[in-house]
Amino acid sequence: MRARAPVIEEAVAEGVRIGEAFLIHRNGVRPSVEAVDGVLTEIGLAPNGKPWDCGACGYATCRAFAEAAVSGRTTLKSCPPYLDKQARQAQLQAAVDGLTGLATYRVLRDRLASEVARSDRTGDPFATLFVDLDNFKQVNDRFGHEAGNAVLRSAARECGAHIRTTDLAARYGGDEFVLVLVRTGVQGALVVADKVRQGVEVMGRDLGYPTGLVTVSIGVAEFVAGRGPETEDVLVAADRALYRAKASGRNQVATGERST
Ligand code: SF4
Repeated sequence: MRARAPVIEEAVAEGVRIGEAFLIHRNGVRPSVEAVDGVLTEIGLAPNGKPWDCGACGYATCRAFAEAAVSGRTTLKSCPPYLDKQARQAQLQAAVDGLTGLATYRVLRDRLASEVARSDRTGDPFATLFVDLDNFKQVNDRFGHEAGNAVLRSAARECGAHIRTTDLAARYGGDEFVLVLVRTGVQGALVVADKVRQGVEVMGRDLGYPTGLVTVSIGVAEFVAGRGPETEDVLVAADRALYRAKASGRNQVATGERST
């Protein structure tokens, strides 16, 4: 007589894991080792340097999952550690400019807001430097965009070379950079600005460009608690000073009042 329910050996059933019991290879072909390894690379390793093998995807091991993914039976969306890794990378990309490695505008905006709040709380000033490459279009037009990108990277390095780890160097956009110097008044900021200006000038010559082609103009603005400028105007004040530096003949540093 036929049994009313499937007869299953308990020992066998214990060893069966959903999604793994019947490995189906497309067209009867085993997934290639390279493809499986590619998926494993995407998943990455756990903090202990070994495969996660956490089972959250329904497969006992990452390798079993990777084979199933290559066979089209699952996707990386079913792997929580992979999704976490993607989210972390997206966050990092939003924080770091891909070309120069400096902070992005988003980070700069948040940092300025927190520095204004800190300054209001502690009474310490902070300074903002608006840095702009003077002849960047000429560099691009005469030497090509790859050369232009190399100049941007080198200028970004100069911006980062003269500040402390507590300060911030960000790419504002295009060929413009902004530095935020914490607990720094206008005199200290002028010293840093001139080091950056001179550094870029030397860097341009070292890269083989004609004297005076690769230079920066820098506008300096100071935020003093209770005296402003207003939060949203710290950058505007530095930008206005930058235009004064440009108007003074470029390769200059200017504050709200004068150029040096
Ligand atoms: S959820 Fe991801 S990390 Fe965990 S076993 Fe599955 S494939 Fe590996």
